[in-house]
Amino acid sequence: MKVLVINAGSSSLKYQLFDMPGGEVLAKGLCECIAIEGGSITHKRPGKENYKVSVQLDDHETALSWVLKLLTDPELGVIADISEIDAVGHRVAHGGEKLKQSCLIDDEVIKYLYSIVKINPLHGPPAIAGMEGCRKLMKEVPMVGVFDTSFHSTMPEHAYIYPIPYELYEEKGIRRYGFHGTSHRYVANRVAELMGKNIEDLKIITCHLGNGSSITAIDGGKVVDTSMGFTPQEGILMGTRSGTVDPTILTYLMGEGMTAKEVEQMLNKKSGLLGVSGISSDSRAVCDAAAEGHKRAQLALRIQCYGIKKYIGSYIAAMNGLDALVFTAGIGENDRDLRREVCRNMDYFGIAIDEQLNETLPRGSEADLSAADARVRTWLVPTDEEFMIAKDTAKLASSVK
Ligand code: ADP
Repeated sequence: MKVLVINAGSSSLKYQLFDMPGGEVLAKGLCECIAIEGGSITHKRPGKENYKVSVQLDDHETALSWVLKLLTDPELGVIADISEIDAVGHRVAHGGEKLKQSCLIDDEVIKYLYSIVKINPLHGPPAIAGMEGCRKLMKEVPMVGVFDTSFHSTMPEHAYIYPIPYELYEEKGIRRYGFHGTSHRYVANRVAELMGKNIEDLKIITCHLGNGSSITAIDGGKVVDTSMGFTPQEGILMGTRSGTVDPTILTYLMGEGMTAKEVEQMLNKKSGLLGVSGISSDSRAVCDAAAEGHKRAQLALRIQCYGIKKYIGSYIAAMNGLDALVFTAGIGENDRDLRREVCRNMDYFGIAIDEQLNETLPRGSEADLSAADARVRTWLVPTDEEFMIAKDTAKLASSVK
């Protein structure tokens, strides 16, 4: 079964064509600068040279028609005809309160996604545009939505209700939703598999640390808490986002003359590693500067580690224990110094890693990093959100065939 996975952002569209159930990636690529100047598509096939084309991409539908053209091109393609695509899986950042698991996309689902655009203004419209584009171009092909928020829908009320007037939840949907759910779900299930245990019997903390970062507590396979909230702004320090700050800072700055938009931009785009270090939002650049003695780069990294440690500690308290701690995503998978620092002085919790193994592991490995005598197993598990989306899509699409 061939499954096309689409991840539509505001000006970009990523795609991967999978052969399921094995999960072989036949082709993948990225359309950039949609609806702005300088559009381009990079198309990749395993074992072949990458192909890049500059092309004006007026909207998501145009980008999708190019994707289909490339996938079926006699030279560059991997299938002979569009009809070989059995299903399309869409990554959707927000499923609101209703879409608690991956589902087939129909008019009702699209209508509901429109109704929650207000709480998901950045990611909602491009995801809907991707779905509508596919519907036009691939009329009969079943489509599945996989939502970043779904995995978190098991959180208890006391974890998702903010202590503000309850009417704001009832009337405006203001609550913790959590994000990166597909990644947390993938690595939590994968670690249970690697440990040879049922996820129902495990208490797991997953640290998805990339440009955006979130930490999730999973007890018996169900999320009990997660660090991102109403938006992906909450939680630990990220590349350009502040994570949690005293909300009065916002109103104070607005009193000083900044507009709401400026404050929001500052917290979302100019804070985090970039804001504290003044160097970059890319952790590699900040790590390099820190190694050369740059004080603010060192401070930014210390704030990041300290924040991660505090979430781990609080989630151990929330679950009354921990069996597995998992690192994933760009920073979690690659930054050995961060993993070492986060796990340092955590022996009270039974967390300790084998520092030599941590230093020498090749990139992209799945590995148990724990010291031999550690009570908690600490794992490195590379994430694979697209494969998880393809899996859900194949399963749901088979049910309608
Ligand atoms: P996104 O949230 O955009 O998917 P990624 O998961 O790709 O982000 O993570 C991007 C982050 O991972 C960047 O800060 C980048 O510097 C960091 N990263 C990637 N490789 C390394 C590395 N070898 N060492 C440290 N950080 C790395």
